[in-house]
Amino acid sequence: AGARPVILRCTGIERSFGGLKALKGVDVEVHEGEIFGLVGPNGSGKTTMVNVMTGFYPPNAGRVELFGRDITGTAPHRVAKQGVARTFQNLALFKGMSVLDNILVGRHTHMRPSSLATLFYWVWAQREELAHRCVVEEIIDFMQLQDIRDEPVDVIPMGLQKRVELARALVAEPRFLILDEPMAGMNQEEKEYIARFILDARDERGVTILLIEHHMDVVTALCDRVAVLSYGEVIAEGEPHATIADPAVVTAYLGA
Ligand code: ADP
Repeated sequence: AGARPVILRCTGIERSFGGLKALKGVDVEVHEGEIFGLVGPNGSGKTTMVNVMTGFYPPNAGRVELFGRDITGTAPHRVAKQGVARTFQNLALFKGMSVLDNILVGRHTHMRPSSLATLFYWVWAQREELAHRCVVEEIIDFMQLQDIRDEPVDVIPMGLQKRVELARALVAEPRFLILDEPMAGMNQEEKEYIARFILDARDERGVTILLIEHHMDVVTALCDRVAVLSYGEVIAEGEPHATIADPAVVTAYLGA
């Protein structure tokens, strides 16, 4: 695994909110084709770290490299255009819209920015439209959402809503996918379902995945490697079973 190209390299990331140091010099490296777990107790800095990676928060210090390029301080929509998709801890679906429309939203990074161009190149545009539809249909099949595609997203159960959110991230055809606690609020069966889709996204679609999670059973089942955050610092990293058995990690979780 050491020979695999680096997808994401964060070095010395610091970020404060007022007087609170949420990240105190975090180093993280994600390699192509892995499922990398970013774990740690609540408030340890996981979401802040993802916000720095995706351009939502500029870091106060440190450097973020994506596919070998420095993207520190790059705006979120530009990071997205480079092939990064993410889901959010609190569902960010559009209420009142159908499952299909919510998934279509995820395609925006591939849309033509100028409607003028669309006007002049309408034949080309039509072909593009068709290509969008093919990707969307394929992901709907992949995520097994055919039966509920026309349902308003607010009336379907939580577990399915999470699946729609994952589908929306996948239609962007990301090379790198960041999932923020994709199993929060799910029952065991729903968790197993989502776990399967996450593995398939990596194995069948070649997506590199960063998974934020605080459930250790999920982490050991899915991740190739993990880094554990505690109070804004990486306190352990490596193979999941060994890493979560590390005394420093056990103490951090007991104290939380
Ligand atoms: P985690 O995702 O591991 O639960 P967070 O990254 O959400 O942790 O939070 C890390 C610390 O930073 C917490 O103490 C939290 O209260 C603080 N924090 C996060 N975001 C903000 C913000 N926008 N404003 C102020 N404090 C924040």
